[in-house]
Amino acid sequence: MRTPLLAGNWKMNGSTDLVEAFGRTFAETKLTKEVEVAIFPPFPYLESARRAFDSTPLRLGAQTLNPIHFGAHTGEVSGQMLCEFRVRYALVGHSERRQLYRESDDQVFDRLLAALTVGLTPVLCVGETLEERDAGRTMEVVMRQVGFVMSRLEPEQRTQVVIAYEPVWAIGTGRTATPEQAQGVMAAIRDYQASYSQELAEALRLLYGGSMNADNAAELLAQPDIDGGLVGGASLKVDDFVAICQSAG
Ligand code: PEP
Repeated sequence: MRTPLLAGNWKMNGSTDLVEAFGRTFAETKLTKEVEVAIFPPFPYLESARRAFDSTPLRLGAQTLNPIHFGAHTGEVSGQMLCEFRVRYALVGHSERRQLYRESDDQVFDRLLAALTVGLTPVLCVGETLEERDAGRTMEVVMRQVGFVMSRLEPEQRTQVVIAYEPVWAIGTGRTATPEQAQGVMAAIRDYQASYSQELAEALRLLYGGSMNADNAAELLAQPDIDGGLVGGASLKVDDFVAICQSAG
């Protein structure tokens, strides 16, 4: 049985007030189903979030990490540092990092390995662009991104990874993949994992990301291979995010 995971990626948004609003609301909200919920705020808010979320079920995630543990890397943050703030999860390979900061598959892999090394759970983001979908290359692109990472991991490490399927054309556009489109790709990702082990495939947590909101979450989360969501815009509104969390399970 896979526990659903709802992950709120604030990107370069948020404020101390928002952190506190989430802390207050989630302290009072009874989540009806067994779900795990994590917020991924910008680095400067990690400490206030750690405190504000203390009496809530909210967990913390980081939006990226540097593969190196410490040293002369101005502006960067390491996995070891994140662990001091009780961070549990780290996004790697988000399409904004791949596109805007030119992160290559090799760099994505290095970050993911660094996360595993310090005990963080990496959330590996994969997904095709609109051009690639229109050219009928969705499966090829997504499987290459997944395979690049998974084929380089030890069997034990593969069990620690969460994968988020995020069609790039659906991120921040208001254009959500249909439940059938998302389910099709996510079933293929699970099948790919089954080529390593059936047990691994069954335990793998797969998140959908791309304009998930309070109105479409239930239908997406009802798909057999969708175990949660990576939510951007709608995770900035506490009531919407609570509604999304309540539709999982
Ligand atoms: C994301 O940034 O991972 C994301 C899914 O964003 P949005 O929900 O805004 O599309």
